[in-house]
Amino acid sequence: MNIHESEKIAGILEYMGYLACENEEDADIIVFNTCCIRDNAEKRALGNIGAVKHLKKLKPELITAVAGCMTQQDGAGLNLRNKYPYVDIVLGTNNLFELENCIQKLKNSKKKSVLIDPNERPEVLENEKVYRTSGCNAWLNIMYGCNNFCTYCIVPYVRGRERSRKMANIIDEFKSLVDQGYKEITLLGQNVNSYGHDLDDGSNFAKLLEEVAKIDGKHRIRFMTSHPKDLNLDVIDIISQSPNICNNIHLPIQSGSNKILKLMNRHYTREYYLDTIDAIKAKIPDCGITTDLMVGFPYEEEEDFEDTLDIVRKVKYSSAFTFIYSVRKGTKAAQMPQIAPEVSKNRITRLIAEQNKITKELSRGYEGKVFEVLCEDVAPKKEGFVCGRTDSGRMVTFQGDKSLIGEFVNVKINKSQSASLFGELTEEK
Ligand code: SAH
Ligand code: SF4
Repeated sequence: MNIHESEKIAGILEYMGYLACENEEDADIIVFNTCCIRDNAEKRALGNIGAVKHLKKLKPELITAVAGCMTQQDGAGLNLRNKYPYVDIVLGTNNLFELENCIQKLKNSKKKSVLIDPNERPEVLENEKVYRTSGCNAWLNIMYGCNNFCTYCIVPYVRGRERSRKMANIIDEFKSLVDQGYKEITLLGQNVNSYGHDLDDGSNFAKLLEEVAKIDGKHRIRFMTSHPKDLNLDVIDIISQSPNICNNIHLPIQSGSNKILKLMNRHYTREYYLDTIDAIKAKIPDCGITTDLMVGFPYEEEEDFEDTLDIVRKVKYSSAFTFIYSVRKGTKAAQMPQIAPEVSKNRITRLIAEQNKITKELSRGYEGKVFEVLCEDVAPKKEGFVCGRTDSGRMVTFQGDKSLIGEFVNVKINKSQSASLFGELTEEK
């Protein structure tokens, strides 16, 4: 979501005639797109903003702007103005489109801007300018905001309520991405399964998936993120019936303990979640299932954590994002008694070790088999090699050159190392 938002910022700048540069010393304008989901994301953003001070001294005409969800927190705009006076423009999540005006105003009359609307703006912007940076993959927003108010999460406060784009607009953008040659299109939303609930035209996520799956061409469709309470059998059926929708579902469970899930306001139990996983595995046997897991949530005891480990063993995720719970001011969980940091650290280490064991075991199951891979990039730090993902979302490295990027190729896996798969091009299917 954030990468795509940065692409929209870059799209506005490109439209204004700016070109992307490699080094910040060469830049005429630097825009920070911030995230405040966890404390470390926020600290990193502030550290990076602080580092611009010396650049501004060297080059006073440098324009600096801060956008993204961090600015939308209570008092954040003023705080940024006071603590980082060399920041020229601060834009809230709903004010991004005003970047061009703010830059013009600064250039014409040296006026700085802080524009942060409350999160009530109902309309959804269409025809935004986008400067895409993800090679043959394209991101496509289907909705914005979130209504769920998980008790740990800041997103609904900084991104506002759910707003879905009209299905016709999404389909038009999808077709145009296919026409431009993109090979993988990822539909984005905080909870894609509640797509359309705010529209009064009967649209829903299953219908949207069905429509985009009909669009001709050799390309892949992915989507994120699904909320376990809303992922339904219709969606699972459509994935299983549509060859161009990837067999890959990201289904964040957060915790395996019913007590913690309730405190998190997640609206499902571990039993309900496991039933959904069974339904996925029954309909889509080779589905890559990934998740988000959190440890150290208030009131989490050893037995709750054991429940999380148990879920990890039962589901066998192909990979998992693991987080230590981070207190976010203004959320309900911030008022709950907090767990000692060393307990959380111990749990996350054990959780990562458990997941790594499973990832390694699943990786071994890929050895000797042939998969269709979309070649996405040159392999990092490996001359003469390229990489790409299987339909189920696993990254594979294999010998090849740049000309393969954007191509679908068959790759035989001959070695696995923890999460990494290595293979070779093959004619076999
Ligand atoms: N809408 C998505 C996720 C958005 S945030 C969903 O509901 O799944 C991505 C992940 O960040 C979440 O799944 C959660 O695991 C993590 N996260 C959110 N708030 C957090 C917090 N306060 N502390 C630690 N992790 C958090
Ligand atoms: Fe945050 Fe929950 Fe909404 Fe995801 S569903 S963005 S975790 S409030």
